[in-house]
Amino acid sequence: MKNESHAPLAQALWPDAKQAPVKLLECRHCGRRNRVQVPRAILEPHHCECGACGEPLFLAPHEPLTGIASNAYEHSLDRTTLAALKGIPASPR
Ligand SMILES: [Zn+2]
Repeated sequence: MKNESHAPLAQALWPDAKQAPVKLLECRHCGRRNRVQVPRAILEPHHCECGACGEPLFLAPHEPLTGIASNAYEHSLDRTTLAALKGIPASPR
């Protein structure tokens, strides 16, 4: 890995670097599948780039999440309460 400050942690978690897990990840820009070392994805996500187009594979901290339905992150109690409120006659829809 490029950033040596994470080396001790990576060494502790995956003593044999050759045995570190690898996952296939589809590039969100061009769709090409990339082999990504899990330790690198966890410890240095900002250094993981697509081998085809060179764009970052992961969102930067300032990038908004898009394309996610609101019910994916709604608390179940909020959902229940909203449904109850909508059931009250003359309540705003
Ligand atoms: Zn790409």
